[in-house]
Amino acid sequence: MYELNICHLYPDLLNLYGDRGNVIALKKRAEWRNIKVSIDAVTIGDAYDSEKYDITVLGGGQTYEQKIISPDLLSEKASEIKSAIEGNKVFLCICGGFQMLGRYYRTREGEEIEFLGALDLWTVEGETRIIGNILFECDILAAEGYDSKIVGFENHQGRTYLGPDVKPLGRILTGGGNNGEDGLEGAVYKNVFCSYAHGSLLPKNPALADLLLSRALKQKYGDFAGLPRLDDTFENMARESMISRLLK
Ligand code: GLN
Repeated sequence: MYELNICHLYPDLLNLYGDRGNVIALKKRAEWRNIKVSIDAVTIGDAYDSEKYDITVLGGGQTYEQKIISPDLLSEKASEIKSAIEGNKVFLCICGGFQMLGRYYRTREGEEIEFLGALDLWTVEGETRIIGNILFECDILAAEGYDSKIVGFENHQGRTYLGPDVKPLGRILTGGGNNGEDGLEGAVYKNVFCSYAHGSLLPKNPALADLLLSRALKQKYGDFAGLPRLDDTFENMARESMISRLLK
């Protein structure tokens, strides 16, 4: 029997817009395939074991909470998280959690909040918030035979820019995305998947949930043959209604 260990990182602080729905979606979609799932909440002062977790999820949070978390993130956790990332462990990082894998968040007042520096990206606070529904195309999903569109909801003051070592998760069709300028959304590095899309993201986009589960199972078991498809009729009806509304 396959088993997955999931770490929900800072769930008490990075918990905007019900991003914990991403952990619930991963758990349920794995259990519907008879895969055993354990979930650990790891927050300030807790140890993070890079070997233990197959999938790590970080949700979104206000800049206030991000400042609270930063010293803990840069403590013993930093080397363990970087080791997990370089070891091809799967990460899903949403909005504030996405920003915190990069080098820094620079506020409008010029204050730089130091973040992990695990991914070649950085964030600069804009004059306005980017808020609204978001729709983008994800080539990785298309390459796996899924529909490439991803829907969600964004609300962020930060403008994130990607360095050459990081690819975007997708290209914007509707919404602001990383910075409202370059038409890019999110980031991908090894098995780290980042997005500004709340929603929460995975219940609205079951194909992305299955992609993360498949990557984690392949990374852990090597010979993993692939996930049997589920009946996603209702999930895809909800997606299609959003997609048609946003593309009108
Ligand atoms: N505080 C960050 C920003 O405003 C992230 C917000 C979020 O996670 N929704 O850009």
